[in-house]
Amino acid sequence: MDPGFVKPEEEVKEGENKGQGVVIPQIPGDVKLRRCGYCLVKQPMRAKHCQLCQHCVRRYDHHCPWLENCVGERNHSLFIVYLSVQLVVLLWGAHVAWSGLYFEQSWEWLQHNIFLLMSFLLILIFTIVVLLLLVSQLYLISCNTTTWEFMSSHRISYLRHSELENPFDQGIILNLWRFFCSRHLTAWENIYFHKNSEPV
Ligand SMILES: [Zn+2]
Ligand SMILES: [Zn+2]
Repeated sequence: MDPGFVKPEEEVKEGENKGQGVVIPQIPGDVKLRRCGYCLVKQPMRAKHCQLCQHCVRRYDHHCPWLENCVGERNHSLFIVYLSVQLVVLLWGAHVAWSGLYFEQSWEWLQHNIFLLMSFLLILIFTIVVLLLLVSQLYLISCNTTTWEFMSSHRISYLRHSELENPFDQGIILNLWRFFCSRHLTAWENIYFHKNSEPV
């Protein structure tokens, strides 16, 4: 699905006139938006151009090679649901594989159980990877920061010029509420400049 691609200005206006598409948050007139050097759209704050998707993505988190899609403002919460479901399936798979193993100390036993044993170890490795990813994602969400911002804060101008370490952090509860319960795109410029903290 659309992770929150930034549309060129003409398309946005057309979509608004027809009353279709997503509500685009209003950005204060005195805030100058950066223009993307690749797709030439005006980039809202926290958006980043993805070379693989060839679009700018709102509140860019990362490009997921498994999904072959970006994770951004519009599909990030579904990505968390996807990881949670994947974790449940992996735990169930690990349980099934483990329940089929009866341990004996003999070569014959190993020959008969080698594939089941390897499956269990593979499931275990994937379970640990997904669990770590889910925990780290939930931590970042609770701080209202993205993987991209966390990894590259020294390269991001709006973070370098901010007096606060994380200008978008509104406290764990509000961060989680916004992330999981708000269906609107947010004008992050408003929160950054403390003009208006309500989503549009
Ligand atoms: Zn771009
Ligand atoms: Zn991408």
